[in-house]
Amino acid sequence: MASKDYYGILGVDKNASADEIKSAYRRLAKKYHPDLNKAPDAAEKFKEINEAYEVLGDDKKRANYDQFGSADGPQFSGGQGGGFSDFFGGGGFGGFGGGFSDIFSDIFSAFGGEGRRSRVNERGEDINLAMKLSFEEALFGVEKTITVGKVETCDACSGTGAKNGTAFSTCPDCKGLGRVRIQQNTMFGTTIREGACPKCGGTGKVIKEKCDKCAGKGYKRVQKEITVKIPAGIDDGQTVRMRGEGNAPLGRGTNGDLNIKITVAKHKLFKRDGVDLSYDLYLPFTTLLLGGKVEIPLPKGKFVLDIKERTPSGTIMRLKGKGVKILNREAYGDLLVTLKSEPPKNLSVQQKDLLEKLSESFSDTDFPKYKDFKKNNL
Ligand SMILES: [Zn+2]
Ligand SMILES: [Zn+2]
Repeated sequence: MASKDYYGILGVDKNASADEIKSAYRRLAKKYHPDLNKAPDAAEKFKEINEAYEVLGDDKKRANYDQFGSADGPQFSGGQGGGFSDFFGGGGFGGFGGGFSDIFSDIFSAFGGEGRRSRVNERGEDINLAMKLSFEEALFGVEKTITVGKVETCDACSGTGAKNGTAFSTCPDCKGLGRVRIQQNTMFGTTIREGACPKCGGTGKVIKEKCDKCAGKGYKRVQKEITVKIPAGIDDGQTVRMRGEGNAPLGRGTNGDLNIKITVAKHKLFKRDGVDLSYDLYLPFTTLLLGGKVEIPLPKGKFVLDIKERTPSGTIMRLKGKGVKILNREAYGDLLVTLKSEPPKNLSVQQKDLLEKLSESFSDTDFPKYKDFKKNNL
């Protein structure tokens, strides 16, 4: 799925400050909150606004979105996911996490304080896990099946909490309308407003007979096997996000996400820098002088390097497209092999003799770089 334009949704500039984003969010959330706006598309719009703010209102998520947000396909976010605890995390199962509650209490206090707990448009908690991969698994991708403890919507009642999902009766408080008039006495006098019915959460229905599979809660805790597709090219520190695989909300709404933060083991030969791989290749000094063909390892398979005569030590051979797959693209980074001259471990008397004769056979003009160096610096 394509990522949404969260800046566009909130109507702010890409460079907007955190305060600008927060105030844009407040304004739009008030405008489109389903308790306050009866337009048919208000709920959808409200959801979108929340989704946008959930990302842009969080520095880390915003940074990830700015960096990776326009990528199609599975969502990956780089950098730190932050606060990765196992399974259910520490925060309990509230609807909105952290930053939302303060803003919501602001909004609703402005409109009389009710409804914040109305069980509409809740979002289940994200589940954050860590996963270690071998160097090769990260390079080539892998599928892993993990068991995750999570909150799931009860199938038996489709999350309604009512037996078979049908055992409802009309809400006595709102007579099925889902909305009630609430009288409030404030310092400014008595106000009457219409809001979601607290008894039925705005549904107009109450449970007549509870679902026996979930005791009327509408959700249950399960251990679920989930197959995680790790894409080829994932890097250390990145996060695989599986949308909707997190906890179900406790009321009506959408599932949280399952975020899997990846760490990648080091390789004994290959070093990785983004999508490029590299290693140092020590060759006998004579090979660099005389040239020759040298077999080298690739991430997958082998390759024969053609070393030219008189190759300087330190030469980097760039093998295009022999590096790491680029996420979400059919393209690869490069493999950089740095050629280094290895002197012999020992020199016999005869070998020294030969080398001395060889050395004497050269003149200054055979080594122009050294000649220039001396001329310019000594
Ligand atoms: Zn149930
Ligand atoms: Zn009601």
